[in-house]
Formats: sequence, C-alpha cells, structure tokens
Amino acid sequence: MSDILIRNALSVVTMDETRRELAGADVHLRNGVIVAVGAGLERDGVQIIDATGCVVTPGLVNTHHHLYQTLTRAVPGAQDALLFGWLQRLYPIWARFGPEEMFVSAQVGLAELALSGCTLTSDHLYLYPNGARLDDTIAAAGEVGLRFHPTRGAMSIGESDGGLPPDALVEAEADILEDCIRVIDAFHDASEGAMVRVGVAPCSPFSVSRDLMRDAALLARDKGVMLHTHLAENDEDVAYSLATFGCRPGQYAEDLGWTGPDVWHAHCVKLDGQEIDLFARSRTGVAHCPCSNCRLGSGIAPVRRMRDAGVPVGLGVDGSASNDMGSLIGEARQAMLLQRVARGADAMSAREALEIATRGGAEVLGRDDCGQIAPGKRADIAIWDMTRAVESAGSWDPAALLLAGPTRVRDLFVEGRRIVTDHRVTSFDLERALVRQRQLVRGLQDKL
Ligand SMILES: [Zn+2]
Repeated sequence: MSDILIRNALSVVTMDETRRELAGADVHLRNGVIVAVGAGLERDGVQIIDATGCVVTPGLVNTHHHLYQTLTRAVPGAQDALLFGWLQRLYPIWARFGPEEMFVSAQVGLAELALSGCTLTSDHLYLYPNGARLDDTIAAAGEVGLRFHPTRGAMSIGESDGGLPPDALVEAEADILEDCIRVIDAFHDASEGAMVRVGVAPCSPFSVSRDLMRDAALLARDKGVMLHTHLAENDEDVAYSLATFGCRPGQYAEDLGWTGPDVWHAHCVKLDGQEIDLFARSRTGVAHCPCSNCRLGSGIAPVRRMRDAGVPVGLGVDGSASNDMGSLIGEARQAMLLQRVARGADAMSAREALEIATRGGAEVLGRDDCGQIAPGKRADIAIWDMTRAVESAGSWDPAALLLAGPTRVRDLFVEGRRIVTDHRVTSFDLERALVRQRQLVRGLQDKL
C-alpha cells in the first residue's frame, strides 16, 4: 500500500486530454494509481514528496530497444559502419552471449533509461545464444522496477541460406513459435496496470521467412498480444524488399497482416506517402529512433508528415550499440531537432516532442492507462529539478524541458514505487551490476 503526495511543483505538465500545464500543483498517488491532480491538495497520513522548483511530467515511454546491446557500445570496427556492415561486425560478438550477459546488460540498460525519465519500455530481443531466454530480461526488469514490454524476437535465415546473421544465431521457425507461446503463457498480463506485457517480434523482413511473418501475426492475434519488427529503416532495406519480395515494405507488411493498432514498426525512415496513409488508416504505430537513424546515417524519418496524417508515433532509443546512449529525454530532444533540420524551426515544438515521448509512446504500445497525469491513470511519474540543474538555469519556460532542462530525473515513480531518488537509482544495486558488466565485457573481448 502506498500513498504519496507530490507537492507544489513548479509545473505539472499533464499531457492529459487538453494538455494542461498546472503551476504550483500537486499530484496524489495511491496504490499505483493517480487519484488527484491540482493545487492545494491536502491529505493526511501520506508520504510527502516536495517538488518545489521541479517540473513533473508523465514517465517517458520507450518503444524500441535492444537491451542486450548495452554490453557492445562503441565497438571498434562498428563505429562508422552502415547498417548491414555494422550487423556483420557485431553478430560474432553477440553469438558469445549467454543468460548472464542478457540479464546484466538489461539491468544496466534499464537503469540508464530510468535515470533519463523512462517508466515504461519495450525491448526487442531477437537472438538467444547459449541458453539465453526472454526470461533473463524479464527478471532484470523485475529487479529494476520498470514497466516492461519484452518482445520475443527471432531470426531464422542464416548465412548458409543467404541471410546476414551467422547460422549459430538463427533458430528453426517451429522452435521460435513454440517459445513465443511459452513466454506469452508464462508472462503476458493483459490487465490494466500490467507490469509485463509480451509481444511477438521477428527481427526484420530480411532475417525471417514470409511464412514466419505470417504465422507470427496469426499467433499474436490468437493470443491477443502485439506485433513488432524493424521496417523501412534505410535505402538498402527498401531495395532489399523490392528485389526479394517485389514490393515496398509497407505493402509487404500489409499483405502479411502486419498492420493495425496492435502492430508497431521500428524506424520507418523511408515510408512514402502511400505507406504513411496506410499506417494512418490502419492505426499502425511507429517507433521513431532519431539518434540511431543519425548514428547509422539512415536518414530523417518523416515524423511531421506521419503525425499530421494521424499515424501513432512514439520514441525509441534503439539498441545501445547503435545510439550509443540510452537516454530517452535525449532522444526526445533529438526528435525535435531532426524534424527542424528537415523542415525548419517551426517543424516541431519542445512540447510536441515531449508529448510523443509520453502519451505518444503509450498509445503505440497500447497503454491507454499510461503516458499522462490524470486521475485513474497509472502512477508513472518523472520529477525534474529545474532549480539545481545547471542546464535549466536562465530558462523562462520550465515546461520547455527539451530546450533547457536537466537530462537526469531527480525522482522517478513506476506504479507508485520510487525507482530513482535524488538522481540515483535506488531500486537495486546498480554499482554491483556495473562491476559485473565490466567483467563480462572483458570476458567477451578475451574470447575474440
Ligand atoms: Zn532496432
């Protein structure tokens, strides 16, 4: 049982239906749910969190990640490569991972997300070497305390079949589907306020067969879970689709049942006008990953056009090996800046980018119980200290957090539980995880 009053915020940026910003307001959280928002809330017997000088926002939502990559950042030989070359450099290293690498990399990646204001994240794990399982990352999320949407990814076309990944990293398609069923039955929680929801997520159209794409969609619909993959990430990706499938990525997705409100695709940098209309019509979601797109030189996703057309758009930090940071607040700022590079200074405001990072992401992940500060919504809250942060000194507009604001939360609540306290992760022993992470990285390097 928890009963918490966040009091006297400089501004509560609610992201509610009318996008209210409330000066001097309080937020009351009880048993994991927001029960009241407004000025002068008086409550007896509650834990008081003083938010004087702080901006309070909904927790940020991350819609695309590969947490396991947190152990392979800034790898020489992959630092300046394009997507396909980058993958070929990293696959042999990932092939040496096992359950502990998956667990520790997820712990570290989730902690980094938490410090950047994230309360709900998805993860796309598509390789399972040496006994690794989706269960390893779910255990890590349970320790760190973030709301977690792991997706059971997969690759089935290895080098010997003309695919990109080494044969050691691909699985038989029957085994993939069987394990999807196992993890959904074991972990998926469809109820409101769920802390874990599982999705089905073949890695990309170029690493699994057409049959697996179709079967995955049928399975997900049968089980009532969501579908996720990479789509139209760059020019090579579109060229591959045209050459191999005889159609653009949007058409391929539609033909195989991969459109609808229960589907979201990562990147979509190269969607054309017709594909944007298709996504808008079908309410198919997009995980926009601006830092990764910049890092890999993939291009600028047409987010302005998508939003104007009505496509649900959320943000993703993408795997730490292609970002290389996992800061969600940084990703939101990058999304704003990148649209301005493409279309001018009025292409996206700081408030709109924050909206995409919060309620936008929640919509993409099918979570209408998250992403906003309103009575009845889950108590997922980020508190940003504008007074002690040098980055926000001199700001005339605290709610313009992405123009001048801290990059680390002061406090973070997930389901009413405090995960970050005074800028430090307090839900688990992060120092110990960092020590173990260094040992594991040295072990991976020694085996090269
Ligand atoms: Zn990705």
